[in-house]
Amino acid sequence: MCWRTCAAATNRAHEDQLTDAIDALIGVFGGTFDPFHLGHLHMARRARDLLHAEVQVVLAARPWHRDGPGGSVEDRWAMLCSALEDEAALSPSDVEIVRDGPSYTVETLEEIRRRSGSDEPIVWVIGRDAYDFVPNWHRVDDVACLGHFLVFDRGADSPPRTHHGFRVANGPADLRNHRSGRVWFVDESPPPVSSTAVRAMMARGENASALLPRKVWAYIESHSLYRSSDERQGEGKA
Ligand code: ATP
Repeated sequence: MCWRTCAAATNRAHEDQLTDAIDALIGVFGGTFDPFHLGHLHMARRARDLLHAEVQVVLAARPWHRDGPGGSVEDRWAMLCSALEDEAALSPSDVEIVRDGPSYTVETLEEIRRRSGSDEPIVWVIGRDAYDFVPNWHRVDDVACLGHFLVFDRGADSPPRTHHGFRVANGPADLRNHRSGRVWFVDESPPPVSSTAVRAMMARGENASALLPRKVWAYIESHSLYRSSDERQGEGKA
């Protein structure tokens, strides 16, 4: 399978809808996306608008920090591509799919730097729950030398910590003026959706369409994803 063939992967044409500041930062938003939901879409759009930059949305093919995803790489990639098809300056990235081994963020940052061939600062977009786990990441000290963080709160009930090697940024200008090692906390909570909630609803036979981009819901329906085996067995019975 050629991972780069989906329409959204080539939607760089949308970039001209942004002003000429677009290349000053590279936004990257990574996740398991099992499945990609409206909270993810909201975050990606807000990151694009706040950073005024294109955001690459990276599918974690083989996440090392959690149980294996329920959806296959092929299904999760197809859903991600369909969700971003008509989105300006948001493009799916296969960087962790084409690479063997666990999906370590530090290696993704290195690869994105290589692929871009530029010196622009990279901003890793992340929800607060995942950010709190950063000290456990593989080669975490190198991460601070490779990029910045943009952190969305996700309804956390405690103030965020500034991890070792990072300093608090006041806004996008601060991110542009430094190559790495800044963290910008945005006091915004995207819709309180989670992939876990979507999968649980589906397993109970409920309709989760209100939590998902329209094309993602259509894909889940047409491929009978996330249903319990009882439900699938019931299909086709009178
Ligand atoms: P799961 O429920 O399976 O753990 P998830 O909904 O948290 O999945 P992931 O793919 O694990 O989604 O998350 C990718 C990134 O998106 C993480 O940085 C996570 O914090 C963030 N994120 C996911 N959903 C939201 C949301 N509703 N609001 C803010 N951040 C979110």
